[in-house]
Amino acid sequence: MRILVTGGAGFIGSALVRHLIRSTGHEVLNLDALTYAGTLTALAPIADDPRYRFVHADVCDAAAVGAAIHDFRPDVITHLAAESHVDRSIDGPGAFVQTNVVGTFTMLTAARAYWQGLSQTDRAAFRFHHISTDEVFGSLGPTGAFTEETPYDPRSPYSASKAASDHLVSAWGHTYDLPVLVTNCSNNYGPYHFPEKMIPLMIVKAMAGEALPVYGRGENVRDWLFVEDHVRALQAVFERGVPGRRYNIGGSAERRNIDVVETLCATLDRLRPREKGGSYAEQIGFVADRPGHDQRYAIDATRIRAELGWVPQESFESGLEMTIRWYLDNAAWWQPLVDRQAADVRRGLNGQMER
Ligand code: NAD
Repeated sequence: MRILVTGGAGFIGSALVRHLIRSTGHEVLNLDALTYAGTLTALAPIADDPRYRFVHADVCDAAAVGAAIHDFRPDVITHLAAESHVDRSIDGPGAFVQTNVVGTFTMLTAARAYWQGLSQTDRAAFRFHHISTDEVFGSLGPTGAFTEETPYDPRSPYSASKAASDHLVSAWGHTYDLPVLVTNCSNNYGPYHFPEKMIPLMIVKAMAGEALPVYGRGENVRDWLFVEDHVRALQAVFERGVPGRRYNIGGSAERRNIDVVETLCATLDRLRPREKGGSYAEQIGFVADRPGHDQRYAIDATRIRAELGWVPQESFESGLEMTIRWYLDNAAWWQPLVDRQAADVRRGLNGQMER
């Protein structure tokens, strides 16, 4: 298969590209604008493989997107390119509307034009797979979980822009018969996660001897999934999912933020004891909560488990330990990003979030 991955230089996109090159025979074209969140170094392990190609383009650039699709002739488009940082969406929502809404519209328009020119057989086999978030469903109380039928109730500019893009994709399926798939996934963590996000931020700050900033009292609950389990789910969906159907993806690993940070500190205590003794947990400090901070997310992943046989391979604890070990061994990847992030914070941008 030929798979066009948008946002393939980002956290999940790069994990998907590495997985497809290492574990399948598929050819991959990575289309990415290389914003602050995109790093080609995340693709260094597979960059020399002849089945991998990169095109530097913006998903809002109709001519560039159309040319890339025309030249590559994909069997599948997996659309991950997005502005993904909730705190940045609060400070500057315009970029989120542009990339997440206009960019998805541009991708759909180009995909449809290409798809209409395919043979009957190739049209039936083509898939446009849109990768989205559980945040579109809003916030849960203490019980229950999001299913594929949960009504949309986005609360942040980020989740509202993702909700709009999900609706556009569904509309292209209903109105034009484009074979679309939408997946909504819970919080991911793992290697190559940009160090503004909660788990890598805590690892990096812990090792630097800095305060570990936890929003509010750390009571917000998220459902965590190791990124490599997410990309295995994405492959199952675009290879075997039913067009027009939505699939929720989650690890059934609900944790309060404070529990995540305490587990992370205990793991670091074991793997890299503090030089001055004591626990990294002593560095935890609570900071003012994020505006409109959703209380709890949880995913009911029954459909993807039952229909496609996908199950996560990592527990939260095993995935977290692999992630911490990776950050301990790969400062050469994240240190330049931390230095740039520090410059951003000096310019007034917030530096902490959950995903
Ligand atoms: P990320 O911010 O790490 O990466 C985004 C990538 O998109 C970057 O490589 C960036 O350069 C690229 N990009 C941004 N704007 C672009 C544009 N206009 N044109 C082309 N490329 C552009 O994001 P991520 O965490 O890897 O998330 C990927 C997708 O998965 C997003 O759509 C996000 O909404 C969704 N998602 C993320 C999570 C999570 O926990 N991280 C969970 C569920 C869903």
